[in-house]
Order: sequence, then C-alpha cells, then structure tokens
Amino acid sequence: MSDTSAAVAVAVVGAGVTGLSLVHHLTERGVAAVAFEARDRPGGVVNSERVDDHVLERGPHRVRRTGPVAELIDDLGLGDETVEADDDLPLYVYRDGELRVVPRSVGEFVRTDLVSGRAKLRALAEPFSRPGRGDERAADLFRRKFGTEVYESVIEPLFSGIYASDPAEMPARHALAGLLRTEREHGSLLAAALARVDGEAAPPVSFEDGLGRLPRALYEAHADRVRLATPVETVRRPDDAGDTVANDGPVYEVVADGRRLRAERVVVTAPAGAAADVLRETAPDAAAALGGLAYNPIAMVYLRADVDREGFGYQVHSREDLRTRGVTFVGSLFDREGLYTAFLGGMRDPDVIDATDDELVRTAVREFEAVLDAPAEAVDVHRLRAYPAYDASWAALSELSLPPGVELATNYTARIGVPSRVREARSVAGRLAEDLGEAEGDEVVEA
Ligand SMILES: Cc1cc2nc3c(=O)[nH]c(=O)nc-3n(C[C@H](O)[C@H](O)[C@H](O)COP(=O)(O)OP(=O)(O)OC[C@H]3O[C@@H](n4cnc5c(N)ncnc54)[C@H](O)[C@@H]3O)c2cc1C
Repeated sequence: MSDTSAAVAVAVVGAGVTGLSLVHHLTERGVAAVAFEARDRPGGVVNSERVDDHVLERGPHRVRRTGPVAELIDDLGLGDETVEADDDLPLYVYRDGELRVVPRSVGEFVRTDLVSGRAKLRALAEPFSRPGRGDERAADLFRRKFGTEVYESVIEPLFSGIYASDPAEMPARHALAGLLRTEREHGSLLAAALARVDGEAAPPVSFEDGLGRLPRALYEAHADRVRLATPVETVRRPDDAGDTVANDGPVYEVVADGRRLRAERVVVTAPAGAAADVLRETAPDAAAALGGLAYNPIAMVYLRADVDREGFGYQVHSREDLRTRGVTFVGSLFDREGLYTAFLGGMRDPDVIDATDDELVRTAVREFEAVLDAPAEAVDVHRLRAYPAYDASWAALSELSLPPGVELATNYTARIGVPSRVREARSVAGRLAEDLGEAEGDEVVEA
C-alpha cells in the first residue's frame, strides 16, 4: 500500500443519492467531505440510460418534489430540465380481468368499486381497533385493522409494489416503523396514513434525461470531492489513533485504491452487504448484523406499445395468476410516448434474477397484452437486487452498535424513498457541521 495519506473532516462511503446529497450539504456548510464510489458512475440505484432513443430508468422512475428535493433542484439549477407528472392521474389495481382505480382519499374510498360496502365499513372502523404492535407481521396488522378484503384488494398490491416484498414476511417494527410512530400521535393508523399522504403532497417529477440527471448534476457540482471507481476496502482506527484532524473527535482511516484517507467522521451509505465488508475491521458485530440483511430481486422489462394509457400504472392483485407485479405508464407520466415498465420478481418470485431475457420478455409482453389489450414489444431488460426486504432478518439491527464517529445513513435503516434519502442527508450534514464546527475549511489536506 502507498504511504500517501490525506485528511478530511467527513468521509462518505457510497455516492448514490444519499452520499452525494450529504457531500452537497456538508460542502454548503463549509465542512470538508470526500465520497468514495465503487462504480464508475455516480447515483447508485438512481440511473437512467438511453436505449434506442428511449430514456429508460434502471431504478426509481419518479421522485416527489418535497422540500429537500426542491431545494436540491434549485441549488443545482435543474429547474428548466424538470418534468412534472400530473398527480391526479389514476393508479390502478388489476383484479378479475379489470383495472380498478385505487382510492386516495376517504371520499374516493367510500365511492370505489374495488371493495364491497361491508368491507368499507369494516375498514372505516379502524380507529376503534387496538394500536399496531411491532411484533405483528405487516399483513396481520393490516388485516386486523382494515379487514381482509381491503387488505387484499388495496393495501397488499400497493405495499408489495412499493417494497417488492411480502407483507406476510415483514415484521411491522421494521416495515412500518414510521407509521406506527405516527399512529401513536394521531390515535389511528388511517389518520396517520392520510396525514402522511397530505404531508407528502408534492408532485412526482423527473428530468428530460431521466432521474439519473439529479445524481449526475450533484456529481458535476462536487466532482473534486467524489472519487468514482474507488471502492472502500476498509474503515479502521489508525495505529496512532490519538491524532485528530481539527477537533478532539475520533479519527478513522478509510482505505481505498491503496491509499488512506484520515477522517474525523465516517458515514456509510452503501447497501448492507457492502457496509458489512467495509466495517468488519472496526465493528465486527455490526458487520455481522448488516451482512445478514436480505434484499429482494426485481426485473424490469421495458415495453413499447402503440397505446397511450393515462395513469401512473397498475399493481396486480396477489390472487391474479400473473408474474408481473406492476406496470408503470412512463409515457403518460412524462410524455415518453408509448413507453411502459413492467416489474417482475420480488420476495415471492426470487427466480426472476436467473430467468433468461427471453423468458422475462415473453411473460411481460403476454401479460401486458392481456391486461391492456394492446400489442407490445420489448425494448430492454434490467435486473437488480436492491430492495431492502424489511423481513425477519432486520431483527439483527435491533442490537446494532457502531463506534463513535461512524454512522449509517441508508435506505435500510431509515425510509427508502429518494425524498427521505435527501432529507436524511441534509439532517446528518447539519448535525455533523455542528459537531465538527463550521469552520473546518473546505480543503482536503494531503498529509
Ligand atoms: C427499482 C427501484 C425503484 C425505486 N423507486 C422509487 C421511486 O419511485 N421513488 C423513490 O423515491 N424511491 C424509489 N426507490 C428507492 C430509492 O431509489 C433508493 O432508496 C435510493 O436511491 C437509495 O439511495 P442510496 O444512495 O441510499 O443507496 P444506493 O443508491 O444503493 O447507493 C449506495 C452506493 O454505494 C456504493 N458502494 C457500494 N459498496 C461500496 C464501497 N465498498 N465503496 C464505495 N462505494 C460503495 C454503490 O455502488 C452505490 O452507488 C426505488 C428503488 C429501486 C431499487
């Protein structure tokens, strides 16, 4: 290993949207930060590619322009490139051969044909049920509080769509931690869920070149602080650990590409398996816990069809005999004519990761044509194992303890959506700036 070492206030492992937002907000506060990224491109799961003139999303297709996201868009001057979807577009559940609109308010719920009148009354009595418990599975909790029909017809398709998971395998304390907390404040899960929908009422947006534009712009703004194609090998305490960069805080050594960077604080944003690898030396127990977390696989089949269906897309009812879990109407959301993304896989269909492209394309095309009654052709296929499962393996996190100065800011220890990632990065940056003192200077010091 080279003897070269340098010093920085904060080292960030991973330059996905969390790591990049963290560098952005730390830099804004005058705190010197460097992010290491294993891949040769920034963005992590937020990644867009052009194939045959189509903008294809390899991960999320849209983000809600909540406060922290709007602020980032402004900071980066991306306003003119932003494209906004109509938030009133319908979202459907496919059941019994029909697409049925999902209600998004109590009024719509009362009018919906998705569930029977009896099921509606049963669900609206939820505020009189006992509060949710952390040790219940999400499926049992929802059934108990809203009834089986509402659970199966509305909640299950949406919930398993968001997490590519199976609510029957997800303890509420991991899968619904935030909602259980707000249930205590509002006195009912329904009120808590409606308050959350209200609180997040920000339009879904993307960019002309796809969502990948956001991390690319963050990278361009901070290229001197982001090292691509530089996987962190380990984080450890240096032999002369008494040294500090500026304050009397703990000091770590981040080893990457045969070089060592000293940092007062280390924030790990990498997926659990990778986080386990880099923390093994410094925090073996935490690494063992992180290494056991399960992720769900999905496959995306990008389809083109000569039909422009209006809406966000549809989720498939679990009793339908389809392998497709849901379809996003990309054309309708962002004027990408005739483009659809079919999602297959998830916790109940792990074999999707090993299926051939031909098999996935045949299935996705056949099922799309059956649901939308329009011929389709496949543009591309993409697979990834990037959805935290929030299943029983998350129990290992209850005892997670990291040494002072090392922390996680990730979508498997907090909320998964991009707005939450940006919000967490901003709040971690604020806290670190306060801890470290804002007058760190913004240079990386070569020692
Ligand atoms: C298919 C899919 C669809 C989604 N849809 C939506 C949506 O519609 N709306 C929404 O808001 N959210 C959505 N999400 C969730 C959201 O996209 C993610 O939670 C978020 O982008 C995660 O960002 P991150 O930076 O925390 O993690 P990641 O994107 O996983 O970034 C972590 C980075 O760490 C790097 N890394 C790993 N090991 C090392 C190492 N040793 N050294 C250095 N770097 C390392 C990785 O290469 C990666 O770039 C979706 C997620 C997926 C997978």
